[in-house]
Amino acid sequence: MTRPAFGGNTIATIACPDFRPQMATVRPGVMQKRERKVGVKANVEEFNPGFTPDNKYVEILDVVKAVANTVDIMDAKILVSGGRGMGSPENFKMLEDLAEVLGGQVSCSRAVVDAGWKPKDLQVGQTGKTVRPNVYFAIGISGAIQHLAGMEESDIIIAINKDESAPIFDVADYGVVGDLNKIVPALTEKLRAELAKSN
Ligand SMILES: Cc1cc2nc3c(=O)[nH]c(=O)nc-3n(C[C@H](O)[C@H](O)[C@H](O)COP(=O)(O)OP(=O)(O)OC[C@H]3O[C@@H](n4cnc5c(N)ncnc54)[C@H](O)[C@@H]3O)c2cc1C
Repeated sequence: MTRPAFGGNTIATIACPDFRPQMATVRPGVMQKRERKVGVKANVEEFNPGFTPDNKYVEILDVVKAVANTVDIMDAKILVSGGRGMGSPENFKMLEDLAEVLGGQVSCSRAVVDAGWKPKDLQVGQTGKTVRPNVYFAIGISGAIQHLAGMEESDIIIAINKDESAPIFDVADYGVVGDLNKIVPALTEKLRAELAKSN
């Protein structure tokens, strides 16, 4: 198995030569879902590693479900993601406007969550969520390896950043170099006008 180590700065190869069976887990969204094959039968083998009915290793005392009032970013087809470059939580209004015009959702980098601007639910990346939308806007996001780990499989990546050497441009399909404070409102207006024309 291979997995990221040291904050994603290196890839570790894990070998388990001696013991079987082996088990590994993958995070949701990391792999493409296969098409469901109707009528396929799997062999289910009952296996008891020695547990007895009275042997309780875990006791569930209570189940408390988190009530999220945001839509899961992993289901979004279009994500408008903002980073520290947004400058302030108020500036995210710009991204909400763009997302509304496109019928998308707002997400963010960890720097934004750490600053307390957005909830952890919206964080994309190694310690956030892995997303694969049709379109991913990375706005004011530098493109740290831990962020890329959560979004680089997106179909189309559009980056807006004032630093032309930002690593996000290495994975972007379309890149705009400039001040997001000018580009994002202009883009939203243009899209709004185009959509109004076509309706
Ligand atoms: C173990 C570990 C796990 C991590 N997990 C995650 C994770 O899950 N997700 C994640 O995102 N990060 C994660 N990180 C953090 C990651 O390393 C980066 O620190 C983080 O992604 C940086 O966020 P950012 O791109 O928003 O901010 P920055 O790196 O500060 O980038 C801000 C960008 O905004 C641009 N900018 C600034 N002003 C403007 C403007 N006016 N117009 C246009 N562009 C502008 C700048 O040029 C810059 O490129 C993790 C780190 C570690 C060590």
